Amino acid sequence: MQSLPAMHTLLNAPCFAQGYDRAVLKVLANAMLAECRQNQRAYADLAQWCTQLQARYHALLAPPFKKVYNATGVLLSTNLGRAPLETNALRELEILSGYVDLEVDLERATRFERAFQAQNLLKVLFNSPDALILNNNASALVLVASVFAPKAKRKQTLLSYGQLVEIGGGFRAHELLESVTNLKLVGSTNKTYVRDYKNACSDCSALIASVHWSNFSMEGFVASVPPKSLFSLAQERGLIFYEDLGSVQSLEHAQKALKHAHLLSFSADKLLGSVQAGIVLGDRAHIEALRAHPLYRAFRVDKITLFLLTKTLQDYVQGRKTPIEIFLAQDRDALLNKALKLHRALSALEGLKCFVIPTQARIGGGVEGGVLESFGVQIQAKIEAKTLYHALYARGVAGVVRAKGVVLDVYALFERDMDAVARIVQDTLEMPV
Ligand SMILES: *Cc1c(COP(=O)(O)O)cnc(C)c1O
Repeated sequence: MQSLPAMHTLLNAPCFAQGYDRAVLKVLANAMLAECRQNQRAYADLAQWCTQLQARYHALLAPPFKKVYNATGVLLSTNLGRAPLETNALRELEILSGYVDLEVDLERATRFERAFQAQNLLKVLFNSPDALILNNNASALVLVASVFAPKAKRKQTLLSYGQLVEIGGGFRAHELLESVTNLKLVGSTNKTYVRDYKNACSDCSALIASVHWSNFSMEGFVASVPPKSLFSLAQERGLIFYEDLGSVQSLEHAQKALKHAHLLSFSADKLLGSVQAGIVLGDRAHIEALRAHPLYRAFRVDKITLFLLTKTLQDYVQGRKTPIEIFLAQDRDALLNKALKLHRALSALEGLKCFVIPTQARIGGGVEGGVLESFGVQIQAKIEAKTLYHALYARGVAGVVRAKGVVLDVYALFERDMDAVARIVQDTLEMPV
């Protein structure tokens, strides 16, 4: 192994003479030196050490996010930030460059609950007696089970084997539940009956939980218990019935579900089309119990979330569509026109074969709803499909590899972005790697 440079040699290299914070450089350089010692290798010369150190320094200062053009045909993808947000609301966020009345009543000069307005909007929109806003829906699972069936008090939560679901990124709702409650699994993978829940009930049982399936369905020899029956059973036995909806298809859908549950929860950044947050709905006493638990302090939202969520809910009151709703309202003609527009921009490019094809888009994000008929532009260049896919991805165009080409599904592409996508395809063809 080549010898490693001394710290002062690195830090005093001419390239770091200006515009670098020495303390930061030193931490980065130390990490590089440690890595080299561990891996028994070293960079060839001082110039390479400097280039690598510079790259790590600049990576720290890169913009937090890069723009992605979502041509995957999946509307809600946790990896891509789920729901796009409304432009005007984001502009108004500027008010946060100063102080705001987050927790004060200006007229009375007294302290005030931070989420009051957003909660009121939720109560009105969902016709719910009370509402609570948390960081995400995962927090809702943890908080509900912590309050109503805590492990520390040997309380049990009943959950069907058919609802042991992995949603994405290794996330499993039942594992969250298990961290705070004793899970009593009932039924079987494909079939669960009311009698399974009844037989499982004991003095320890306190909560019946129902977790919505993610992106999968079961067919054939299957049976599950409708929420209505679980709610009745819970009432009969003095238990709480809580439904994790995952997302809401519509306000009506959640309103209906609320009729048969003590509590329900969903993510605000799935079909509601807002920022990441967890919404819990239910009656006063149960929501109040959640609000009174110390964990609520750990799960409550900050002013940025609250501002943007409130703006989305106000859009619902005023009948203004969220970006997600606008996508979902696209009909066949609109989608075909988008595909033709993209095709027009792409067919001008040299060395590219492209044609419009019908595709099947999906909502994604653990939301049911089957396939969405859509269109895409399949592109084929001289380079291999996988190489093209990666080269596009690296420039922020996320498509799908299909047969010999890459498909750019237009479902979740904004009309305004078609030319930008075509330009990136052009750049990619000129310099694939
Ligand atoms: C997405 C999802 C969650 C997790 O929601 P987050 O807001 O991402 O924490 C929980 N349960 C179900 C059924 C989901 O679909």
